Amino acid sequence: MTAAFSSELAEGLADDVLDRLLRYVRIDTQSDRAYAQSPSTPGQLELARLLVGELDAIGLEEAAIDGNGFATATLPGNVDGAPVIGFLAHLDTSPDESGAGVEPLVHRDYDGGVIALPRNGTVLDPEHMPELTAKRGHDLVTTSGDTLLGADDKAGIAEVMAAVAYLAAHPEVPRPTIRVCFSPDEEIGEGAKLFDIDAFGAACAYTFDGSEAGEFTDETFTAAGADIVIHGVDVHPGMATGKLVNAARLAGRVLAALPQDRLTPESTADREGFIHVHSVEGTAGRATIRTIVRDFDDDRLAEHVALLVETAEGVVATEPRARVAVDVKHQYPNMRTFLDAHPTVSAAAEEALRREGFEPRRVPIRGGTDGSILSARGLPTPNLFTGGHDYHSVREWASVHDMASAAAVAVRLAGVWAERSG
Ligand SMILES: [Zn+2]
Repeated sequence: MTAAFSSELAEGLADDVLDRLLRYVRIDTQSDRAYAQSPSTPGQLELARLLVGELDAIGLEEAAIDGNGFATATLPGNVDGAPVIGFLAHLDTSPDESGAGVEPLVHRDYDGGVIALPRNGTVLDPEHMPELTAKRGHDLVTTSGDTLLGADDKAGIAEVMAAVAYLAAHPEVPRPTIRVCFSPDEEIGEGAKLFDIDAFGAACAYTFDGSEAGEFTDETFTAAGADIVIHGVDVHPGMATGKLVNAARLAGRVLAALPQDRLTPESTADREGFIHVHSVEGTAGRATIRTIVRDFDDDRLAEHVALLVETAEGVVATEPRARVAVDVKHQYPNMRTFLDAHPTVSAAAEEALRREGFEPRRVPIRGGTDGSILSARGLPTPNLFTGGHDYHSVREWASVHDMASAAAVAVRLAGVWAERSG
């Protein structure tokens, strides 16, 4: 039997959210780590233009794209004295799987079984995807099996669009002034750096970029990247006796000396941090080990970085003719550090979730969002769920029921802030 929606409001928004998702995912908006300008790829601008046209047609004001590809618009409020709030979602999709030629499939009234997709033998098996089991009776959207879906974050875009379309069409519903922004290059960690917070002019904002219905995030990893470069002494191997110092072999010893069954992504969960080696390249003359380091706590992050540096230096020090340099870059902070100073922002999100019938679940994300950087830059920005799952893979899927709930939560959130006028 078809599952119930979380509210009549959500049920009324479902068709619009689904139509929008199906339309937006057909534009390839993968971002590119070889970042030369903003946005990193032209598809993101194409989607931004489509959205600005739609925002204009819905009746929002000041719909425009700035020089860096950020699409923004304003829905004027209808109560006096309420703070301006922002709704955000990102235009780009992950560069990790193909995002071209996305052919979304809608599965009505999901029966709880295995979903076999038509291409590449891709299968969604609830035995290995526990979130799927809970969606019996939902309408689902999947890929055809060989691309991303792009629900990360076009589900978020569709939800924000459906919510502001609803509010624009229902002026009798109290709302504060709402600023909307769809931003580029979240997946490559660049977008939020160029976000024009002053021009946006909101007191706080919410990203719609989470996953399971009812979840809410005011805490992310604190993150660093560390590149270890080892210089050896390269000599023709036929004349290498007593001379060659092999940087690639030293890199292998550094890898072997790092913790193996703890402090790795695969051996940690919940609030534990890790050191993740994501790329190794090397020759006898020179080897590079690229890592990311993560934790929820800045002091523990610094300890993991120190362990990495000590390990690399300790191994390379056994060979006096070799040299090592470790380049550590801070990537993004735990947003909680900044959100704790603005408790009303998270409280409003929790109240909106309750009004939509959810018991809010605060889930720290083992990753970052645009809100990590924006919160640090002075715009408090927690994250709300979208109803999408298994992101960055060909098994990506989304529940239409949960997407409709997320759009309804955005409408409720406007109501909560409208009450905070004066
Ligand atoms: Zn995302």
